[in-house]
Order: sequence, then C-alpha cells, then structure tokens
Amino acid sequence: MLPLLFEAAQVMDDLFWQQAWGDKQALMSRVDDPYVKKYLEINYGPWERLNGNSSFIEGIGKKPAGAQFYPHDMTKEEFEALEDEAKNSQYTIIERDGEGKLKVIPYHVAYAGALKKAADLLKQAAVLAEDDGFKDYLEKRAKALLNSEYFESDLAWMSMKNNQIDFVVGPIENYEDALLGAKTSFEAYILIKDMEWSEKLAHFASLLPKLQKELPVDAKYKAEIPGCDSDLGAYDVVYYGGDCNAGSKTIAINLPNDPKVHLQKGSRKIQLKNSMRAKFDKILLPISELLIVDEQQNNVTFDAFFENTMFHEVAHGLGIKNTLNGSGTVREALKETSTAIEEGKADILGLYMVDMLTQMNELGEDQVLMDNYVTFMAGLFRSIRFGASSSHGKANMIRFNYFKDKGAFTKDEASGKYKVDFDKMRIAMIELSREILVLQGDGDYAKAQKMIQELGFIQPELQADLDKIAEAGIPRDIVFEQGVKMLQW
Ligand SMILES: [Zn+2]
Repeated sequence: MLPLLFEAAQVMDDLFWQQAWGDKQALMSRVDDPYVKKYLEINYGPWERLNGNSSFIEGIGKKPAGAQFYPHDMTKEEFEALEDEAKNSQYTIIERDGEGKLKVIPYHVAYAGALKKAADLLKQAAVLAEDDGFKDYLEKRAKALLNSEYFESDLAWMSMKNNQIDFVVGPIENYEDALLGAKTSFEAYILIKDMEWSEKLAHFASLLPKLQKELPVDAKYKAEIPGCDSDLGAYDVVYYGGDCNAGSKTIAINLPNDPKVHLQKGSRKIQLKNSMRAKFDKILLPISELLIVDEQQNNVTFDAFFENTMFHEVAHGLGIKNTLNGSGTVREALKETSTAIEEGKADILGLYMVDMLTQMNELGEDQVLMDNYVTFMAGLFRSIRFGASSSHGKANMIRFNYFKDKGAFTKDEASGKYKVDFDKMRIAMIELSREILVLQGDGDYAKAQKMIQELGFIQPELQADLDKIAEAGIPRDIVFEQGVKMLQW
C-alpha cells in the first residue's frame, strides 16, 4: 500500500509545482548548475521562500501574489466585478477565455488528468488497507479529488482512530495565495503513528481541565472549561510533498481546516516527531554548543524539545477564548497583535504545564524540569531566527527580552555563553504567564501593542549572537531526502 501512497503523493507534488510556478521542466531546462537546480526544487520555483520570496534566477521578476491561481494581470476590481459564485471557492482557479474575459474553472477540471491518476492510486490503496476506517477515508478522498467536495472525506478522516498509517492528501492550506488567501494548495504527508507517544499525549490532554484550574491567575481569567476531546497524536513522517515541503518545514499540524468539520468532529493535532528530531540534531544542538554554558549542555535534550513543542500545542487550549468585558473574542479584541500574543501564550504555558506536571508526578524526575528550562532557552535562539514578520519569531523576541529583564539568564562575559538561572526563570515564567492571560482576558489591545513595541525586537547584543549562529553555518531549516527508495523494508 505504501508505494501507492508515495505515487499519489508525487502527483500532489507535481500539482503544487503547477500552482506555485507553472511548467517545472521548462524552468529546470534553463539552468545547468546542479546547486541552483536543487535550490529550485527546494523552493518549488525561482523565488527564495525563506528570504521574502526574492528571485534567485536572472531575468525572473517578482513572484505574482496570486501565484498561478489567477491571471497575473488581473486586478482586484476585475475579480470583484466577475459574476460567478464559484470564483471564491477554495477549489477553483481563475483563467482568461479566448476573448480575454475571466472564467472560473474547478480544480477537478483544471487538473483533471493528474487528479484522476491520484484518485485511482487511492482506490487501489484502499483495497489493500487493513484498517476499515482508513479504507473508508481513502475511498471518500478519491471521490473528493474528482469532484472537489472534501467534507465527507474530512469527516471520514476524523472518524478513523486505530490506523497506524495515515495519509494527508489534497488541496489544503491557503498560504500560497497571497493575493486573496482563498485558493488551496496541493500537498501530501505520509505518516506512521507512534502509538506509545500518542497514548501519552491523550493522557496529557485529558488533564487539561485540571491544569486550567492551576493557572497562576484570578479565577475569572480561567473560568472557561477547556475541551479535552481533542485528538492528539505523535507521528513519524515518511514523505512531505507539495505545499508542506516548500519553505520552512512544519513540525506540528492541526487539520482539517473546515469549521463545519470542527463543529461535528473537532480537529486532529499531529506532532511530527522525526522532523523535530532532525531540527533538534541539525539546528538546536549546534546552537546550544555555541551559546549555552558548558555545564548546562547536558540539559539540552531531545525529549525536552519534544515536550516543549508538544505542550505548546496542548497549551493553545488553556486560558480563555472570550474577553471578560464583552469586547468579543480575544482574537477580535487584539486584532493584528492576536497571533503573536497567542503564540507567546502557548510557548510560556507549555513550559508552565511541564512545571505543573512535574509537581503532579506525571513526568518523572526533577531532571526533566531543568532540561525543559535550558532547552526552552536554547529554543529561543532557533525561533527568533524566523524573524519579526513571523508570529512565532516575534513571540520569542518578547520572551527573550522579558527573561533578560528578570534575570532569568546571565551571560558569561568570557565565553559569551548563556546560563539559565533556574529560580529566576521560574518566577519570570509565572509572571509572564499571568501577564499574557490577563491581557487576553481584558482584550487589552493597547497593552498588547505596547508589549510588542517594547519587547518584540532584537537588541544589538542578541543580533551579534544570531550572526555567530549564521557564521557557523547552522541552517535555519531542514530539507528531506525522501521517497520509496529511502524506506527500509
Ligand atoms: Zn502555536
């Protein structure tokens, strides 16, 4: 079954090339340099994704905001004037007809050949699938690829619980459409579930209501009861294809995106364990060797990195979603600051959860706690490199400066390395958790802006350390060698 899934995933990869750039072969034939070819593969086109989409091939201009989803010369006014309901669908593209007029074409027509091939592969895989839930999902997904109606297959995906192999496939995220944020991009993940870790995750999720009660704020700021029905799992990824393989590689996903499915079935949060491991080995560890004092090196561990990331996801469920003073949801009240504040909340409460769970004897020895603190510290340098345009980057800058002001770490003058002060970091963590929870509960937009203005930037000393990381050749992200040939049978 797996080789069939790999083949279908390859179809998604080819389709994403068409959406992001157009004719891949024509582009490839323009270059001889094997490194440039490789870079085109990594970026799915001639624009560098981790560098503001700047062009790295001579003679190629700016990336069209609407990628290949719309005619490049289409104006917003022209789009608005177009009378066709389907123009707003996330599964249609806009083209010009013979007379130059705009027309709407559904994905299953625009990409008919490729989608038919992918659907056939899914049907063949369904015959071989041993898990009934997975079989049902593959059959429904195959149908969806052919009529662009994904709802039933999303429900089927949420209904399967015991399958050890998973396949996320289809048009899913809308980031590539920077013009209107409407059109979805093709992608595929082939996943193998880690049953042991998934059980642990489910257990931690079940503790959420209890953890919510222990948050360090007045009762009114933790009055909402977090749902513990969320479906959490740890997986190893054996293939990233298309959209999810372009630019920075995600280490956690939360799907499906359809709010109608959320209402009926919730969503599934997936932690991608082997990708985390690769980022830990290739990025976090080398950064630590450069910037964490020798006596705390041993506290930088993969388990702690995994826990930091995993509890970040779980911590999104803590706190409150609605403001206390009637200014609507936290997201509405905090406007454009809401994502940086929310990511900052999840980071700091993730660490707070580890602290609480250790006290509740859920995580084992005290060593775990120290590992989490030091690994968290090292992780700040990794995430700050995402830059101020990323919510995650900004949240990490705020926390770095906050910790610095509170003496949560010191810098050894001679070696230029950082040392965590456990007690002070713990106090800073509790205070920052409280500040963010109260800020969200009050829906205090002015205070959020102030926090970002005063703390959400990189001071010269930190910049010098980031330069040191860059000079050492430590990558900002990873790329994969993947495909059937990489599997050990
Ligand atoms: Zn998050």
